Amino acid sequence: MTAANRLKQLVRHIKQCQCPIQAKNLHAIVVKSGAHLHGPLYSNTLIHLYAKARLLNDALQLFDEMPHRDLASWASLFTAYNHLHMPAHALLLFFRMIGAGDISPDHFIFATVVRACAMLPAVDVGRQLHAQFAVSPYCKDDVVKSSLVDFYAKCGLPDEAGKVFGSIVSKNVVSWTSLIYGYAMVGREGVVIELLRKMPCKNLRTWTAAISGFVQGRHTDESFRIFSEMRRDGVDIEDPFVLSSLIAGSSSLALLELGKQAHGLVLRLGYASNAYVTNALIDMYAKCSDLSSASKIFHDMRERDIISWTSIIVGMAQHGRGKEALSLYDDMVSTGLKPNEVTFTGLIYACSHVGLVEKGRAIFKSMVEEYGLRPSLQHYTCLLDLYSRSGDIDEAENVLKSMPFKPDETMWASLLSSCIRVGRTEIGVRIADDLLQTRPESPSTFVLMSNVYARAAMWDRVSTVRKSMMGLDRRKKPGYSWVDLGNDSRVFYAGETGNYPMKDEIFALLKELEAEMRKRGYVPDTTVVLHNMEQHDKEWQLFWHSERQAVAYALLGGGPPEKPVRVIKNLRICDDCHVVLKFICDIVRREIVVRDANRYHHFRDGKCSCSDFW
Ligand code: ZN
Ligand code: ZN
Repeated sequence: MTAANRLKQLVRHIKQCQCPIQAKNLHAIVVKSGAHLHGPLYSNTLIHLYAKARLLNDALQLFDEMPHRDLASWASLFTAYNHLHMPAHALLLFFRMIGAGDISPDHFIFATVVRACAMLPAVDVGRQLHAQFAVSPYCKDDVVKSSLVDFYAKCGLPDEAGKVFGSIVSKNVVSWTSLIYGYAMVGREGVVIELLRKMPCKNLRTWTAAISGFVQGRHTDESFRIFSEMRRDGVDIEDPFVLSSLIAGSSSLALLELGKQAHGLVLRLGYASNAYVTNALIDMYAKCSDLSSASKIFHDMRERDIISWTSIIVGMAQHGRGKEALSLYDDMVSTGLKPNEVTFTGLIYACSHVGLVEKGRAIFKSMVEEYGLRPSLQHYTCLLDLYSRSGDIDEAENVLKSMPFKPDETMWASLLSSCIRVGRTEIGVRIADDLLQTRPESPSTFVLMSNVYARAAMWDRVSTVRKSMMGLDRRKKPGYSWVDLGNDSRVFYAGETGNYPMKDEIFALLKELEAEMRKRGYVPDTTVVLHNMEQHDKEWQLFWHSERQAVAYALLGGGPPEKPVRVIKNLRICDDCHVVLKFICDIVRREIVVRDANRYHHFRDGKCSCSDFW
């Protein structure tokens, strides 16, 4: 065999090879034969091979050592990053390429880097790239334009996507679909319908893109309307992905009634045994706090995977049913399945709820040591919660100090709140002092700070907190609560302002309930109102907190007493509303479920599932 033939054979080998060890052997053969000195072909092929075998460091080293790189060498590395979903690295490589100055990107590299910008997303870099592409010799390339459409659509800039789309000569399904997704994500239903009407060759994927775009942008009503449109159009749903998108849409807004409709469709279309769809249903019912339905679906499943188990475990844990979550975990382990990161979040949360500190600590340890998983900020938050709830402030503070993340406001607030509860005022003051420097965002954090200073009789700092709170008013998110009655859903904002239907009835009902509550011993906790105002005005402010209006509205809407009232609140529920809802659920003999910014509260028989710790 001639040397040339041998080398040809070698390249063929390299192209076919999949195994990492073989990749290294081939590399050694190339180096030994000196083939790599004849030009970049061998090295490029090897880079490709290393990427396929996920040996990125070897690929990079080889790339760095190459005496001459051509466009294909760069392209091989870009392909590698793409293949391994490493968009940030692709961008860095692009800057390096531009910096090197001897080679300009071709259409392939443009398309790859635009795709990386879409994945991140990196809006500014993408725009710069677009400008560079527009003056390059490849400026008419439809593939690059198609990836630009996708980039702008994913960045929530559908009009810019539309401009590029208009310049594409042969528009294919992919670019149509990207554009539709972009408009759906920002909720422009009219444009989406118009595009769907104009599109010559739409298929199930196009409809799915429209639906999931609306779901992503939290435009759930629109997603269901488009779904009905698709059904009218006679599209065959051979892909359960569409259904799971719809179900996900229902869970993100906790729209139980819509979720039930989607469930009905699942049954009618015969997808009840599809694990993908069923897992989405379990998650949806859990997020909509209908745990008995979630449980029923879970138990009826013939084959459960890790996602099914995790969904039910996390669901139970989040709703304060820690014991059930832990016993489900034991069942899961006995089937031989390995828990993942999300399962552990649920488990630690569960332990924290039932006060099993040692068990929680052991579970956290086994996550790292036995299963080799790296804890995220969320895991540390759960761990902190575990110690705080049990009153072990030192251990909790230890978590904050030793974890490899910067603690966020929620964590500091959680620790501060337990300092107050267990009377560790000196640590509380130290935390509040630190927090004061970091400009907290949430009004409830200010309340905690003011409480701890008041306990330490540090009145000058109480007034400093109050002043900072005034500044917060201008930048804070308005509090609102959302209630879904199935055929009707409404959003209520804090405060007495504005006129809306049923306002008088809501006021009358809340007044009536308040009278009964006072008879039972309720005293408004006005410490949560930090403004300087008369006691009466403070009470009046509390009276109009959004969750109370939402609950009253749901109660006025009637419905069977066994049906819980479900409310979603964007901020953390305040101490006073928490007390009030405990009274109300007892007076009206109805369960009230509130999902606030941190957790679920099930108010039943005068108690809350969070055991007054949130
Ligand atoms: Zn409140
Ligand atoms: Zn609660």
